[in-house]
Formats: sequence, C-alpha cells, structure tokens
Amino acid sequence: QKLLADHPSVDLHATDHTQVVKPLSIDHESIDAAIRQQQFVVYYQPQIELFTGEVIGFEALLRWQHPQHGIQLPELFIHVAEDTGQIEALTEYVVVTGIQFIQSISSTLCLSVNISAKSLHNDRLIMMLEQVCQRFAFDPARMILELTETATMLDTQQAERILTHLREQGFKLSIDDFGTGYSSMSQLAALPFTELKIDKSFVTTMEASSKSRKVIASTLKLAESLGLETIAEGIENSMAAIGLRELGCRFGQGYFFARPMDAAASKVWLSHWNGQR
Ligand code: C2E
Ligand code: MG
Ligand code: MG
Ligand code: MG
Repeated sequence: QKLLADHPSVDLHATDHTQVVKPLSIDHESIDAAIRQQQFVVYYQPQIELFTGEVIGFEALLRWQHPQHGIQLPELFIHVAEDTGQIEALTEYVVVTGIQFIQSISSTLCLSVNISAKSLHNDRLIMMLEQVCQRFAFDPARMILELTETATMLDTQQAERILTHLREQGFKLSIDDFGTGYSSMSQLAALPFTELKIDKSFVTTMEASSKSRKVIASTLKLAESLGLETIAEGIENSMAAIGLRELGCRFGQGYFFARPMDAAASKVWLSHWNGQR
C-alpha cells in the first residue's frame, strides 16, 4: 500500500481511510496512543573523554517511532508534550529505559537525561527520580540532568529549590546548549550546576569562525573558574575534537564519534570502540 500523505492531489478527508495515511497530528490524543502502543523509543549517544578517548556515558534522546511516518525527532513533539503535561510520563519512560540500558552495559558509565524546564514547577520530578533510582538501585551520582536555559526556569524560586534538592541527593546538573538561552550568567551563579555543555552552534562553526572559537575559549575559562566540568556537543569531525581538546574542553559528543543509536546498536558501537582502544 502506497503512502499518499505527501501527495498534494490526494483528498485527505476521503472516507476510505484504509487507502490514506493522514498527516501525523501531534496532540494529546496521538501522544497518548503512542505511549500506549509503545512507539516511543530511547536512542543513545556516547559521551567521550577527549584526552583519553574513554567513553564516560550516554545521553538519552527520545524518538517517536511512528508505524507510518517513521522516526520523529523531539523538536516535533516535545513542546506539545510539555503543553499537555505528558512530558512527565515521557521523562519517566526515558529515565527508566535509560537506567536499564546503562545497567545492562556497565556499572560505572553515566546516563544523561534531558529535563524540561516545565518539570521544575512542582515536586513530582524529585519524587519520580528518587523512586526510580531506588527501584533500580541506581546511584544518582551516575545521572546527569541536562537543563536548557529558559525564561521559565529563571522565573521561579521553585526551580532553584528543586535543583538544589536534586543536587543534594547526588544528581549531577548540566546546563545544556550553553550560550543560546536567556540569562546564562545569573543562572550559573544561582543554580548548583556541575557541568556546562557548549552548544553545537559554536562547535559546528569553530573551524570557520574565529568568533565561535573565542566564545568557546572564554566559555571554557568561565567554566573552569566556576569549577564546572565541560562538554561540547555537535563534534562532527576530527578538527573539532582536536580543537576543543586544545582549548581544554574535557568531554565531547557528536556525529564524529557516533550518531544517536538504539540500544542494540549502542552496545555494538561500544564493544567496537573499546576493542579498538
Ligand atoms: P540536546 O539535548 O541539545 O541534544 C543534542 C541534539 O543534537 C540531539 O538532537 C542530537 O541528535 C543532535 N546531535 C548530536 N550530535 C550532533 C552533531 O554532531 N551534529 C549535529 N548537528 N547535531 C548533533 P535530537 O535528538 O533531535 O534532540 C533535540 C533536542 O530535543 C535535545 O537537544 C533536547 O533538548 C530535546 N530532547 C531530546 N530528548 C528529550 C527528552 O527525553 N526529554 C526532553 N525534555 N527533551 C528532549
Ligand atoms: Mg541534551
Ligand atoms: Mg544540547
Ligand atoms: Mg539542544
């Protein structure tokens, strides 16, 4: 059966729905159905120590594997799930799945998980994370919560209280996409981050742009003076990996090392990587 959804001449309101794949609607109902039908899958991208080549952990990245429309990226559905409140269920799914994955490959590697700023408006995130870590006997020190800088986060005293509590429980806190959000400096000072993640927009342009390199260099100095670990995302070639290492960036991830992969492919990748070193 042919997929007709992208064909402009097809009447999408035709009554014979067996012949037509409707455009993917992304709303509460379709996300709910996707959760029930287990269409959400977690992909993993390795994070590397740039000086030693050692794998230090994996970042969990959510995918919607749609039976007709194929793999859907988070930019398409995360903001909807945030608006409908379904992000909480999705985050729990990623955390549970990610912990089981990481425990199946190692007793020391870390798991990075993206946390929506919307989840910092009440205590349910704290309860969920503590419960899941307890259930799987997973040390919170092996979990890195990645948060982007957003106005929502800055708005609220609540976010500061929640993040401080999580840090006290041992969770690591990373400031994702650093340099692209609002009010980086005031957040850095007020919130108990442990890691700063340099946004890929600077990394992918660092070879061509001396300004990008300068932003990266001064960001790394800032991180060092604040005692933060540093990781760069978007490393697409060896030049970027070497350049970042020369500037003193300790960790990195990107297509140069590996694309985000499903659990099975990640395990294969890891054994190859470890076998080659
Ligand atoms: P992010 O956390 O900043 O993740 C990095 C994004 O860059 C990922 O896109 C990744 O696939 C992509 N990437 C990795 N290496 C390279 C590279 O070398 N070059 C380039 N150009 N890109 C690279 P992805 O997976 O589409 O995720 C996009 C964003 O969606 C994430 O950005 C994160 O903010 C959000 N996201 C993903 N999974 C979740 C989740 O479970 N919960 C929440 N709340 N947000 C998520
Ligand atoms: Mg991230
Ligand atoms: Mg990022
Ligand atoms: Mg991002």
